[in-house]
Amino acid sequence: MIITVASGKGGTGKTTVAVNLALAIEATLYDCDVEEPNANIFIKADLQKVDDVKLMNPVFDLQKCTFCKKCAEFCKYNAIAVLSSDVILFPELCSGCGGCKIVCPYDAISEGSRSIGEIYHGKNGIEIYQGVMNVGEARATPVVAKLKEYVKKDGISVLDAPPGNGCPVIETMHGSDFVILVTEPTPFGFHDFKIAYELAKKLDIPAGVVINRYGVGDDSVEKYCRDEGVDVLMKIPYSREIAELYSKGIPFASHIPEWRKKFQELYEVIG
Ligand code: SF4
Ligand code: SF4
Repeated sequence: MIITVASGKGGTGKTTVAVNLALAIEATLYDCDVEEPNANIFIKADLQKVDDVKLMNPVFDLQKCTFCKKCAEFCKYNAIAVLSSDVILFPELCSGCGGCKIVCPYDAISEGSRSIGEIYHGKNGIEIYQGVMNVGEARATPVVAKLKEYVKKDGISVLDAPPGNGCPVIETMHGSDFVILVTEPTPFGFHDFKIAYELAKKLDIPAGVVINRYGVGDDSVEKYCRDEGVDVLMKIPYSREIAELYSKGIPFASHIPEWRKKFQELYEVIG
């Protein structure tokens, strides 16, 4: 079973929920927040690099090129500039779609590649895989896609999605059996949660909600869930003990047996 833990907004406790759930049910954890992976702060595994993430980049053969500009006109990312006697690629803009190679009438483009990120793996109690995007890169989605190649077909996988509702989140959610949406009961949390829920609905993936810092803010999330028929799977209160464990990088489900049991029960509801 593949469970994605997502939240429209950053800072809601998404990674905390993903880590505690994975530990409680002994799942493999995948940190898909490739711009700022931090789940291993809690797991503390000795991570080893297992893969490079590469993107196709066009290489131009100036002996064959007639500088016709068809490649630049095709590229919707404006990654190519054709001059009178040169062709320049702006690699950070290139998505690696390969379209320019197809449209070149003179077979002047071949496939090169460049590294945009890395995949790491480790184990400390549970297994963890982590994607890391290279500094300065703009495209997180291919790194998430490569990380997902390591998702096991058997067993339970918990995917910690990036924050937001963009392409890397869609890539993470795609193919999941269930999405847990983590939110907080504030107007900002509620606003971004609704977008994330709509996204899960569009992808036709069943979803449930975990309300973090329950007790602060208002009841708009709960009211919305009631109206939409979405299950509130867990409420995590604003607790000094949990906050202190968090600040020390200690997953509270491995420290407080009662919470370990609650996460196991959550999995029984969705599993
Ligand atoms: S389409 Fe091919 S021939 Fe035309 S400018 Fe681009 S690389 Fe050169
Ligand atoms: S591979 Fe795609 S994105 Fe990259 S330069 Fe060619 S057309 Fe543009």
